[in-house]
Amino acid sequence: MSGTIPVYRWRLAPDGLATRRQLRAAGLRPGGQDPVAVIERPRRRGRPPLVAYLYLVSAAVPVRPMTPARWRAIEAALTARRTCPDCGVVRDYCIPTSIGVCNPCDQGAGWAIAA
Ligand SMILES: [Zn+2]
Repeated sequence: MSGTIPVYRWRLAPDGLATRRQLRAAGLRPGGQDPVAVIERPRRRGRPPLVAYLYLVSAAVPVRPMTPARWRAIEAALTARRTCPDCGVVRDYCIPTSIGVCNPCDQGAGWAIAA
């Protein structure tokens, strides 16, 4: 991180910037971006000011984003539910848990129909 980002006084930060805590309150997180500014809150004489980093609200991301990995996990779970444990064919419907196999298997036809 560079040491050249602007420093603002408390409450004088420009719009569009928020602290990590403010983002959190809005259900957002910085999301990998570096802070773009610092705010300083002066304290009593002789004590160092409180500082907080500011992040771009426009670059913030929801706390629980749908990452590609999460999409893949959901996809895999759905595919597993559509995969017949008997013939191994991925159907276009979920295998009924009450039966446990796809319809052709249930009717004794098995993979012959699947191909
Ligand atoms: Zn089957």
